[in-house]
Amino acid sequence: MKQKTLIDLDDLWDEQQIIDLLVPLREANENLVVTVYAIPNRLGPVHDLKVKYPWIQFAQHGFEHTFAECRAWTDTMALEFLSLGAEMGYEPVFKPPNWIFDEDTEAACKEAGVILHHHEDDEPGVRGLKAYPGPFAARGKHTHRKLHTHILRNPSTDFILDAPEFRPENIAQHERFLTLPDVAEIVWG
Ligand SMILES: [Zn+2]
Repeated sequence: MKQKTLIDLDDLWDEQQIIDLLVPLREANENLVVTVYAIPNRLGPVHDLKVKYPWIQFAQHGFEHTFAECRAWTDTMALEFLSLGAEMGYEPVFKPPNWIFDEDTEAACKEAGVILHHHEDDEPGVRGLKAYPGPFAARGKHTHRKLHTHILRNPSTDFILDAPEFRPENIAQHERFLTLPDVAEIVWG
């Protein structure tokens, strides 16, 4: 069986990042599908972008991407930001900025039917939540390959142009791609 790859990229806030950094990868591999975590209040609605780039899953990465914004949210606020994201066209997939979240965010994701992409060192505890651990470790029965980086240059994180695995000739080697809904699992608490 051919190995499958899940690619996720953080910190999309402008279409120019897609044009400069992701379109060359898609040109290198016509099967490429990626999950991109976007900052909704910067990027805005994605209805048109989804039509233009059907190989990109636009997922929600906080709302403003302040350092620990999810920790400041009550469950009601978290639900409001998730439903706002849905209205703006984002997939029901959420990654908290800086991986920082608490039970209010978990509960809101569960209620809204949104997958929580959490850090593998920080297991969610809300029973019945759909979740997926990242960014790298293949926990449990995961056999797929995981590639993760950032598409905004930031001194505290790695950047796509510095990552050899994201060079077009290396992206061209992957044959099949996964998205979060393919791999998320229910947390049994
Ligand atoms: Zn981020």
